[in-house]
This record gives sequence, structure tokens and C-alpha cells, in this order.
Amino acid sequence: MKILVTGGAGYIGSHTCVELIKDGWDVVVVDNLSNSSSEALQRVEAITGRTIEFHQADIRDKAALSKIFKTRSEMHHHVEPKNEEQNNTGNCSIDAVIHFAGLKAVGESVEMPLEYYSNNITGTLALLEVMREYGVKNLVFSSSATVYGDPHALPIKEDFPLSVTNPYGRTKLMIEEILKDLHVSDPSWNISILRYFNPVGAHKSGKIGEDPLGIPNNLLPYIAQVAVGRLPFLNVFGNDYNTVDGTGVRDFIHVSDLASGHTKALPKLFTNPGVVTYNLGTGRGHSVMELVRAFEKACGREIPFKIVPRRAGDIAACYADPSKAQKELDWKATRTVEKMCQDTWNWQSNNPTGFNKIHTG
Ligand code: NAD
Ligand code: UDP
Repeated sequence: MKILVTGGAGYIGSHTCVELIKDGWDVVVVDNLSNSSSEALQRVEAITGRTIEFHQADIRDKAALSKIFKTRSEMHHHVEPKNEEQNNTGNCSIDAVIHFAGLKAVGESVEMPLEYYSNNITGTLALLEVMREYGVKNLVFSSSATVYGDPHALPIKEDFPLSVTNPYGRTKLMIEEILKDLHVSDPSWNISILRYFNPVGAHKSGKIGEDPLGIPNNLLPYIAQVAVGRLPFLNVFGNDYNTVDGTGVRDFIHVSDLASGHTKALPKLFTNPGVVTYNLGTGRGHSVMELVRAFEKACGREIPFKIVPRRAGDIAACYADPSKAQKELDWKATRTVEKMCQDTWNWQSNNPTGFNKIHTG
């Protein structure tokens, strides 16, 4: 079975490609490399010993997507290209799409809403139109715990009320709604909406990991860059929250556990469940300072930090009730926070400048 992975060169996508290949799926990747490097896919090939079909393209480019959906045999036999209006159902070798491609920085989305709506919404619409054209109606979509806003209770269950406060979050919620509308219009679609909590860590090989452009927005990559000497100290955004030690609490989940949530979501899609939604988290909350301490242990260095005011838009605490995914997908996160920190350190210390092969410090 062949799976198209949009955004497959990115952080979560590359780790998911590893798990997919390990579980015997054929993988095709489309990515415009706007926030990633093709080196990541070469590393996935090194880890798995398999070559990956890669198309560098923007998902908003329907012509480029169409080419990917056309079967190889059709291309090899030089069948006349079908006219746009014709239904191409049955001519496609792709069985399902895992859709990671999109922009993901909350702060940037406030500065550049049009880019976010274009990449995330227009991009998803283009993908869905081409999928429909080729009769590929199985989709796994990357949503986010951000759609729960500031939750009224913890842990968070899938049926909690949804609310969003920034353009990034709005793109995720709008896409969830678009997907539900699509299923109402045509029940032969099967769609798994996965709401990720806080993905961190790296593949155990240390060959792939999170490689943000510029100064990281997220906690663990920031800590890792402090540990490796690229940044002088961590800013801890607030220590006056109503939490265990006053710092923010999040459900950090190892990216390899998150990746296996996708391989578990695929067989479920093929049972024709319609639209299903799952939290992917560990069910446990850890504070910012707990993460700092765990990372210090993993790297054997002190992480200098300063307490600074709260970051606008942050909530005190957020963690998942992941029991629905356990029950229906037979999926559970197993890796500890210690392992998340060790694997992040292994990746960061082996690749101090990420996927750049020239180490400029
Ligand atoms: P990432 O930026 O590492 O990966 C996204 C990939 O999509 C990148 O390789 C990028 O080049 C590609 N891309 C972006 N726009 C594209 C376009 N128009 N056409 C083709 N490719 C495009 O991010 P990630 O952390 O791996 O996140 C993957 C998905 O998971 C995103 O949809 C993100 O919103 C979602 N998500 C991430 C987190 C997180 O904390 N990392 C949390 C919740 C949800
Ligand atoms: N955080 C921090 N310093 C940083 C980045 C993040 O103190 O440089 C805190 C942030 O306030 C939140 C937690 O770490 O409590 C996780 O933030 P992140 O941006 O990684 O993920 P979010 O939960 O906001 O999506």
C-alpha cells in the first residue's frame, strides 16, 4: 500500500516516514522544502535502507500534485493525459494521504495571516480536490491541541469545546470543519483528525530531529540550542502560573510515539470509520522547569535560564486524555520525558547546526 506524505521532509513527517517504512508501507513524499531540507529524507533513507520517491512541489500546485497521483504504469505506457474534467478514479496508485504540509508558528501567523491561510487552507483545498479527482478518499490530518484553546478542565478529551485565538489555530480548526463538511457531502471519505500535543525528541539514531530555521519558538529546541552553545540562556515565560512550580505545564510527546500514532491511524481508515478524531498525547503534564532539569541530566550540562514575563496567548496547563486513541487505534505513547531529552540531545550534539553539513557553530 502506498502512502503520500505531504510535508514528509519536515520534523514530524520525516519521523513518520521512518515508522511507515518500518511497518511495510510504500512512501511517496511531497514537500516544497520551505521549512525543511532534502537532507532529512536522505537520512530517513539511511535509517531505513530504502529509497523514497520525493517530489519537491508546493501542495497549492494542483498540476504538480496531479502528476504525483497518476500511476507509474500509466506514465510508463504513455497513456494520453486525461482531460481535467474526466474522473480519474481507479488510475491512481496512492491508497491514503498523510497531510503534514503547512506553516506552524503561532507568532508568525499573527504577522503573516495571508501566508498561513494560503499555505494551510488553500493548500489543503488543492490537495483535497486532487484526491477527489483521483478517487483517493483516505486522509490523516495533522491538527493540534491548540484547537481546545484554554480548556475548562484537564485532561482534555476529544469532545471538549473548541476555540482558537490566532490565525494558525484558526487554520487547523477551519480545516477540521472543511473535512467534516466534505464527509457529509460524500460519506465515502475516511478522515482521521489527529490532535497533537507537544511533539519533542528525535529518532534514536540521532540522524533526524527538529531543525527550526532561526531562533526556535518551542521550548525543547530552544533548550537544546542553549545546551550546545548556540544560544546563551533560556527565557522561561512566567513562573506565576497555577501549576506545580509556577511554570507552564504541557503534554510533551516523543516524536517517534507520535509517528507511530499515524501508522496506527491508517488501518483504522481502511475500516471506513468516516471522520474520527484522536488526541495524540501521553496523558501526563510536565512543567517547563521539569523539562529543564530533565535536559540537564540528559546532557550533563547546566542550562542557564532567566524568568521573564508570560508569553502572550500562553495557557497555564494542557494535557491530553489519550484513552480514545488507545482504545480505538491500539496506540499508546511509551517513551518517557528522560528519553525525549536524551534523544533530543543525541540529535543536537551530533548535528549542532541541524541538517547543515557545514558546521559554522
Ligand atoms: P515542519 O515545518 O517541520 O513540517 C512541515 C513541512 O511542510 C515542512 O517540511 C515544509 O517545508 C512543508 N510545507 C509547508 N508548506 C508547504 C506547502 N505549501 N507545500 C508543500 N510543503 C509544504 O512542521 P512539523 O512540526 O513537522 O509539523 C507538521 C504538521 O503538524 C503541521 O501541519 C503542523 O501544523 C502540525 N503540528 C505540529 C506541532 C508541533 O509542535 N510541531 C503541533 C501540532 C500540530
Ligand atoms: N516556553 C518557555 N520558553 C521558551 C519557549 C517556551 O518558557 O523559550 C514555555 C511556554 O511558555 C510553554 C511551554 O514552554 O509554557 C511550551 O511552549 P512551546 O512553544 O514549546 O509549545 P506550546 O505549548 O506553546 O505550543
